[in-house]
Amino acid sequence: MARKMLIDGELDKANEAESHYDFDLFVIGAGSGGVRASRFSAQNGAKVAICELPFHPISSEVIGGVGGTCVIRGCVPKKILVYGASFGPELEHEEMIEISVLLLKISALLSLLFSLLTWLDARNYGWDVNEKIDFNWKKLLQKKTEEINRLNGIYKRLLSGAGVKLFEGEGRVIGPNEVEVIQLDGTKISYSAKHILIATGSRAQRLPIPGQELGITSDEALSLEELPKHAVILGGGYIAVEFASIWRGMGAKVDLFYRKDLPLRGFDDEMREVVAKNLEGRGIKLHPSTNLKELSKTEGGVKVLTDHGEEIVADVVLFATGRTPNSKRLNLEAVGVELDKAGAIKVNQYSQTNMPSIWAIGDVTNRMNLTPVALMEGTCFAVCSPEILALTSMFVSNTVFGGKPMAPDYSNIACAVFCIPPLSVVGLSEQEAVEKAKGDILIFTSTFNPMKNTISGRQEKTMMKLVVDAETDKVLGASMCGPDAAEIMQGIAIALKCGATKAQFESTVGIHPSAAEEFVTMRSATRRVSAGTAKPRTNL
Ligand SMILES: Cc1cc2nc3c(=O)[nH]c(=O)nc-3n(C[C@H](O)[C@H](O)[C@H](O)COP(=O)(O)OP(=O)(O)OC[C@H]3O[C@@H](n4cnc5c(N)ncnc54)[C@H](O)[C@@H]3O)c2cc1C
Repeated sequence: MARKMLIDGELDKANEAESHYDFDLFVIGAGSGGVRASRFSAQNGAKVAICELPFHPISSEVIGGVGGTCVIRGCVPKKILVYGASFGPELEHEEMIEISVLLLKISALLSLLFSLLTWLDARNYGWDVNEKIDFNWKKLLQKKTEEINRLNGIYKRLLSGAGVKLFEGEGRVIGPNEVEVIQLDGTKISYSAKHILIATGSRAQRLPIPGQELGITSDEALSLEELPKHAVILGGGYIAVEFASIWRGMGAKVDLFYRKDLPLRGFDDEMREVVAKNLEGRGIKLHPSTNLKELSKTEGGVKVLTDHGEEIVADVVLFATGRTPNSKRLNLEAVGVELDKAGAIKVNQYSQTNMPSIWAIGDVTNRMNLTPVALMEGTCFAVCSPEILALTSMFVSNTVFGGKPMAPDYSNIACAVFCIPPLSVVGLSEQEAVEKAKGDILIFTSTFNPMKNTISGRQEKTMMKLVVDAETDKVLGASMCGPDAAEIMQGIAIALKCGATKAQFESTVGIHPSAAEEFVTMRSATRRVSAGTAKPRTNL
């Protein structure tokens, strides 16, 4: 094994004690968290290296790519497909809008402009609108791949622009201050670092049932050669319902199987019911409390056998059955880094493992597996060299060098499920609030027909909900299922972070006409719930 020697140039006296390390920081994994932590650290004077597996849309133990899951196999490509899928129903309804507008002879010019814009947008997302509405999956896939390649390039440039040295290969930890990189040709090179940061993310897992190899995961689902005509999805989490919406929106028949009575365990129960109703309303067949037992190959496709004895033949079976932390091949246990039962790296509130020089952030720690959370953890961790710290007060996240530890704050983190229409939430669900509350909880709800549907005729209600502490009037949680939910919830999250009360919501003047204004006009509580007694609900 080659030994990479010190690459420092001249070192000043202040750094003399550290001079025997190749780097101040070596990061393994250039996804959301790793890129953020390394970039910020380098920008603040630390000497940083990062290693990442070679690029490919479908990940494996030895394949990845700068940008990580979010950019290559997660949030970004998924959202592109959601946009694409949303045009199907939009276009159908637009025909109705045109007819209504023509019939009513209202603003013909405006209608024409709207049609043209939607049509142009839709074409770029793979839709052809001539005599009939058609969808070209390959065209959208190509656009998606182009976008991912573009982002991969941007992330690489961000690293080099910040002065981070990028190594391509598989990284593993071989000592408290030593990392080994296995390069593409199999050569192993080791580097020393004062700090090691593990940001290797997580990987989709399949259900261990006979024939599991016939199914796919979200990685492959984002790069399928052909759009499925009939898809079976197993899972009740956000990835499962998002893919159900995507494929259904593009015209496929979709069967969604999950173990609980409702999808999206962990979200507010009432909102879960709304999502389930909407999925069904859009033509997705729901199979609650059902698991898959076996997959087998038939002439017509993959045959699925459920634990209720039902058989379905589909051309794609997607396992959206959770993700597992990428910690297996990092040699961590040999070095003495503690993992939990699921393989997640155990860390304290500052993202430090039981070994003081080794740190971990993002999905590999399995705290809250979202891109913005990995970014926050990376920011809090980021290294500042002491001399830069002395010069700048801009950078306060000096957990490692500055001696002023900064812990990530997990309160009131908003998130969204990009099913169609989307669900977005922040703060506590009704169930969580009731469980945690000392006094009573007031629930405010609003269910209404979005203005757009009044013309299009779509039967799909938007629902909003606020969870309020009856004694303090503080808004503890908010949720919405309906168009633009994620865009609206980001602003609500700021209000919750500031500790806004219901009275402050009400004193805010709404934007009219909008769905968002409902959040500031829900005046009477729907029910009052006593602490610790989720049931019965007292409707007011
Ligand atoms: C289908 C899907 C949709 C998602 N949608 C959303 C969403 O809408 N919003 C949201 O907030 N989150 C979403 N997520 C979750 C989000 O992608 C992750 O939470 C986020 O990417 C975690 O960032 P990370 O830095 O921890 O890991 P990652 O981004 O996964 O980065 C880890 C990197 O480490 C590399 N790596 C692994 N092992 C090694 C090794 N030994 N050596 C070198 N490199 C290695 C990997 O190749 C990878 O590039 C989605 C995830 C999926 C799968």
